[in-house]
Amino acid sequence: HPDFAPALSRLGTESAFEVLARASRLQAEGHDIINLGIGQPDFRTPEHIVEAGRKALADGHHGYTPANGLPRLREAVAQDLERRHGLSGETSVDPDNVVVVPGGKPTMFFAALMFGRPGVEILYPNPGFPIYESVISFTGAMPVPIALKEENGFAFDAATVLAQITDRTRLIIINSPANPTGGVTPKAEIDKLVAGLAEHPQVALMSDEIYSQMLYGGREHVSLLSYPEIRDRLILLDGWSKTYAMTGWRMGFAVWPDSMVEHATRLCINDHSCVNAAAQFAGLAALTGPQDAVRDMVAQFDRRREAIVGALNSVPGMRCADPGGAFYAFPNIEGTGLTSKEAQDRFLSEAGVATVAGTSFGAFGEGYLRFSYANSLENIERAIDRIRRVMQ
Ligand code: PLP
Repeated sequence: HPDFAPALSRLGTESAFEVLARASRLQAEGHDIINLGIGQPDFRTPEHIVEAGRKALADGHHGYTPANGLPRLREAVAQDLERRHGLSGETSVDPDNVVVVPGGKPTMFFAALMFGRPGVEILYPNPGFPIYESVISFTGAMPVPIALKEENGFAFDAATVLAQITDRTRLIIINSPANPTGGVTPKAEIDKLVAGLAEHPQVALMSDEIYSQMLYGGREHVSLLSYPEIRDRLILLDGWSKTYAMTGWRMGFAVWPDSMVEHATRLCINDHSCVNAAAQFAGLAALTGPQDAVRDMVAQFDRRREAIVGALNSVPGMRCADPGGAFYAFPNIEGTGLTSKEAQDRFLSEAGVATVAGTSFGAFGEGYLRFSYANSLENIERAIDRIRRVMQ
């Protein structure tokens, strides 16, 4: 429409949702589709969390809450972060810096809106979560891709990131463990990145740590919150969606520095007023209740991870490195002779397996395919079997 704002045409999308729609259509037509496309845990939300949401509704929590979230919930978020990341003293988290939002995504949008404008450059991972590039472009800022490489285990390389900073750079987005690769950035690289940022005081950092509790093979998560020297310009993104199998509840949080937190809250007031009150009570129960359901889910993901990596490496033309976190495998498929999109389409139509083309995560995703292993071991084995038969 000629009267629509040009920014609208710059918004991208998340192809995983389109793949899901196509897979559902095929399923409705009677095809047996195995969905390794969508990035959400296949588990139910643990029962004590559901019960807390139910109780909040029964108890009459039907109204607005403070825009930045219930005070008790923000305290619980701060304590949870301090406990998980070993923070205290100058790295401790003040609940007044916590802003609860409907999912992980709003924090990305708000960060982009705070810094993005024509003439500004924002660095973001590629291949990476597609919404980063989308929201940067929306603001008129220039999205500058940080290429993540298979030979690096898809980790961020501090020297590469620092070399891309110009006098127009205002924000850097990093994500570890990463979607779509499962890549985990080692502490040594994060140390170097933080040290290098000392020379660029005008650059803020958004660290997307939504998969911080999904690590395998003895790997440890290093939160950017543990670096006091950048706390005055760090936006920490995390949330409930992945950790507690709560994607549909729409619950996320961020820790904003003092200079930004009031702006973030004002964005909430303008955008959604507050997060659904009952969902906030459920989120509180998630953080303060027993954590064994989380450990069980992670243990199951780990077994599936081993199974899918082994199976993918047995498909002719595919090579899959060991993903250290999240719940995705991101094999190199160049040896199949198919482009990412061709592989995605053929595996869906000929094998009945939904996956997402690497290019849905940026141009540097060509030659790769994302498999979500948030599905049963049995389905994972059936799916890769069928793909192997298509490739033979
Ligand atoms: N960040 C990353 C890296 C993700 O992969 C996702 C979801 O797939 C999100 C954030 C957003 O999660 P939410 O559903 O809580 O908005």
